[in-house]
Amino acid sequence: MPHRIAVVVPTPAHSSIGGPLSYLSELPLLPGTLVRVPLGRREVLGVVWDDDSAAPPDRPAVETRAITGSLSGIAPLAQQWRQLVTFSANYYQRSLGEVALSGLPPQLRDLDSSQLARRLKRGAGAAGDEPTAAPLPLTPEQGEVLAAFEAEPGPFLLFGATGSGKTEVYLQAVLRMLQRDPQAQALVMVPEINLTPQLQERFVARFGAGNVVAMNSGMTPPQRLKSWLAAHSGAARIVLGTRMAVFASIPHLQLIVVDEEHDPSYKQQEGARYSARDLAVYRGKLEGAKVLLGSATPSLESWQSAEKGRYRRLLMASRVGSAASAEGSFPAVRLVDMNLQPKNTVFSPQLLDAIGQRIARGEQSLVFLNRRGYAPVLACTACDWKSECPNCSAYRVFHKIDRTLRCHHCGYTERVPRACPECGNVDIAPVGRGTERLEEHLGDLLAEVKQANGEPVRIARMDADSTRLKGALEQQLARMHAGDVDVLVGTQMVTKGHDFRRITLVAALNPDSALFSSDFRAPERLFGLLMQAAGRAGRDAAQAGASEMWVQTWHPKHPLFTNLRRHDYPAFAAQQLKEREQAGMPPFGFQALLRAEARTQEAAQAFLKAASAAAQELDGADRVTLYSAVPMSVQRVANVERAQMLVESTSRNALQRFLAAWQPVLQASREKGLIRWAVDVDPLVI
Ligand code: ADP
Ligand code: ZN
Ligand code: ZN
Repeated sequence: MPHRIAVVVPTPAHSSIGGPLSYLSELPLLPGTLVRVPLGRREVLGVVWDDDSAAPPDRPAVETRAITGSLSGIAPLAQQWRQLVTFSANYYQRSLGEVALSGLPPQLRDLDSSQLARRLKRGAGAAGDEPTAAPLPLTPEQGEVLAAFEAEPGPFLLFGATGSGKTEVYLQAVLRMLQRDPQAQALVMVPEINLTPQLQERFVARFGAGNVVAMNSGMTPPQRLKSWLAAHSGAARIVLGTRMAVFASIPHLQLIVVDEEHDPSYKQQEGARYSARDLAVYRGKLEGAKVLLGSATPSLESWQSAEKGRYRRLLMASRVGSAASAEGSFPAVRLVDMNLQPKNTVFSPQLLDAIGQRIARGEQSLVFLNRRGYAPVLACTACDWKSECPNCSAYRVFHKIDRTLRCHHCGYTERVPRACPECGNVDIAPVGRGTERLEEHLGDLLAEVKQANGEPVRIARMDADSTRLKGALEQQLARMHAGDVDVLVGTQMVTKGHDFRRITLVAALNPDSALFSSDFRAPERLFGLLMQAAGRAGRDAAQAGASEMWVQTWHPKHPLFTNLRRHDYPAFAAQQLKEREQAGMPPFGFQALLRAEARTQEAAQAFLKAASAAAQELDGADRVTLYSAVPMSVQRVANVERAQMLVESTSRNALQRFLAAWQPVLQASREKGLIRWAVDVDPLVI
């Protein structure tokens, strides 16, 4: 007599099959077992799910089919893992199958049992190499923080200045836990793939290569499978990864670290739009693992949780190696009032002079501008032609290096035309500037400046373009560390995480747009960015005193800069939270976005309007506010029109209940011309 089992399978985002499907199996299979099952005409990977008697009765008139086989070499996924998946699917309004399957390494889908058995055998042999580095003696602040961390349950928010030694706290928190429990495992998350190699190096040195596995989207499918199997089997004690790692199967998980917890890249921006930081906190509670969030500029959500006592705040105010007075060890902030500069000034003379002094002393400077390419627009000087993208409501960016116009939204790339395509005028000119042009301009400005040894100045650029090729980033970082660069120009990429020892000047050229953005999170992001950037300067204690952070701005009196000058994140946060509270914005209110994509803007909005009208009938509609449907800020991308509608509530639960009730209504919609739609819960960008 075959057994009837529930199996979660990959289903299209908005099919009506949300939950598990029924299959037959000769053998009883434990929930969490990986199986292969027929689905339509395909065979797919599925996960045996808990038999949920509340699930709707079997689909009518379809014969229940038998599973094809089970991956018996792999232990079933734990109940907590399944709970995490269920919670995520419900909370972020996606199907169980999508969330479950996207949490598994893609190669599991493709390998047959014998191939898998070979992989399992190969993985098992890797003995843990010995650690090569010993723990550092803790600073008094690190010692206090670790003691508090050991003594209390958390979750913890480690509010630690840049350079205060947060990584050492993570390393030793992990070390103590591993020593206490020979099975325990830890999950350490970082925001950027770029930052994983250096952190991985430190963890490997401390714990041995066999104990540490990485998990990020830059890895090949075989590498990802190998890491996943090592974590799932318990062999790897430490999983180090980007946001996707929050779904890793880690059966003996006891500690979760979320480094730079404020970073927007913890929020997935497509498919299931989950926040890995928020899920880390949830997962910690679920599995009884301690959660440690760390940042020099916490997200206002986390900061507010600490203010309310939901998180335990741990403080490290001073930089490692600095004298007891914290003030002196952070770079002085210099604001240049651009109202007092001649028109079209890019580098104020003061800033140039300061950079020149650094060069003469053999110190490094870092200049950043949040725009890559040579110029954001190319324009004809005779008619009104501009380098618009034919597929998007955006300009294509001029990249001088390969003389292309590239759309940063859809990727559409063309050679720069010899003459204006509209009027034939040969005089077409770049408007505005990106990092490429900045690098060139700085080269001109510093042409006469020499290093102490009489050699010319070395300027380098680091952004998504310069680091596209494999190994390029590592090479550029190595040049920087070796002191082979005097001035590094880059996008915000250069401001994150890197422990450059010789930088004594950091300059933000043009950060003003964030001050008056319609995005209410823009000031929070800017403050974080500038604090992180300032954190790159003077990391070598011997030079900390002479380090400077320069900001060129048209609004030097803005309160954001006042708090920046004092390195006063708490004052900035208090001011922002007050504004948010008055406006009922997160973390005081809760939001979701309904997004729609269609052939025409009308169709996209019609879908949203119909959804809004239908919502009025639903239970709990009185506890949410539905705003009007509006075009997205970049309205058309790759010839698809985009619109969105904001939903708000003062209660997270009320919002969740409403979204659950709304979901079937949205799925039933048959708006003509609609291509896709999605709900984004707790959206980061509105
Ligand atoms: P954060 O992540 O807080 O910005 P890091 O962890 O990068 O700071 O630490 C800054 C620097 O201080 C690093 O070079 C690190 O090796 C060093 N450091 C950290 N803790 C100690 C310690 N206890 N003793 C000596 N050096 C330390
Ligand atoms: Zn023209
Ligand atoms: Zn485009």
